[in-house]
Amino acid sequence: MSLLEVRDLKVSFDTSDGLVQAVRGVSFTVERGKTLGIVGESGSGKSVSTQTLLGLTAGALIDGEALFEGQDLLAMTDEQLRRVRGKEIAMIFQDPLSSLHPLYKVGKQIAEMIRQHEPDVTKAQARKRAIELLGMVGIPEPGQRVDDYPHQFSGGMRQRAMIAMSLALNPKLIVADEPTTALDATVQAQILDLMLRLQREFDTALIMITHDLGVIADLADDVLVMYGGKPVEHADRRSLYYRPHHPYTKGLLESIPGSTGAKTRLKPIGGQPPSLINLPTGCAFHPRCEYVMDRCVPEEPLLAAVGDKDGFPDLGHTSACWLPKEAAGLDAEAENLRQ
Ligand code: SF4
Ligand code: MG
Repeated sequence: MSLLEVRDLKVSFDTSDGLVQAVRGVSFTVERGKTLGIVGESGSGKSVSTQTLLGLTAGALIDGEALFEGQDLLAMTDEQLRRVRGKEIAMIFQDPLSSLHPLYKVGKQIAEMIRQHEPDVTKAQARKRAIELLGMVGIPEPGQRVDDYPHQFSGGMRQRAMIAMSLALNPKLIVADEPTTALDATVQAQILDLMLRLQREFDTALIMITHDLGVIADLADDVLVMYGGKPVEHADRRSLYYRPHHPYTKGLLESIPGSTGAKTRLKPIGGQPPSLINLPTGCAFHPRCEYVMDRCVPEEPLLAAVGDKDGFPDLGHTSACWLPKEAAGLDAEAENLRQ
């Protein structure tokens, strides 16, 4: 059994401006100890999808299934979900200050969370574990820093503290939503290294949400690319990076800073993400797509298997685009990225 199996998740919000279709049918699985990268621009539905699984989208209209070890998260009561959050599934957000309480010492917050879920643990034991965890995530002199307040930590240290907190209860799954976006490039690389190392050490599964395919290039086993509330490409990391099929995925790859070498220029995707109230007809990406064809405007492409160069199916690699499936990875841009 997969650790998490999401089936045809749909999430919308009834607003005064109309129905916002934030997620329009997303399916994916996460296996134990593995990493799924969910990638897309803001408004693609990547955050809403995972927030919905954890009961954090109050007032949303939700459809579909999300089986966590066989139990449907979407059918759980608030009380059941509260027990799952933190203990079974932990979250890390972009801005640790929104998750760390400014008026409590960092170590105390970690210790309190441990005691909330494990009432038998004494205060002294929880504090000891908080110090160990802070040391594990690379906070220097954790025995002293445990009594610091969040504002006494740098941005990178706060994110390390959040990672410590997420690991405190040894969860089976961590959902990290843009965890390094607010950090400068050097600190970002350190935090990603740390997450990779700890994930292996703890054998935790990870869902890493990002707008930057570069962030998960070393981290993800599988990658799901979302656009306008829907998945547009889904593949294992190698297939996705070496043989991208969907023009949007190719656009994301071309806009990774610094990763494609001096030969390839950085090329942001032109145009704006679609309105989720008034989506384009056919392929939602068509107003921005440089490959747009006649049928893309009226007809919506569904996820379908991508063929490989020799015409054999590339197992598990799917793309929602009318371009010939054999086109995956064959154009000049993609060839460049291969090198
Ligand atoms: Fe572009 Fe058409 Fe493919 Fe959409 S279906 S990504 S518009 S080529
Ligand atoms: Mg987001």
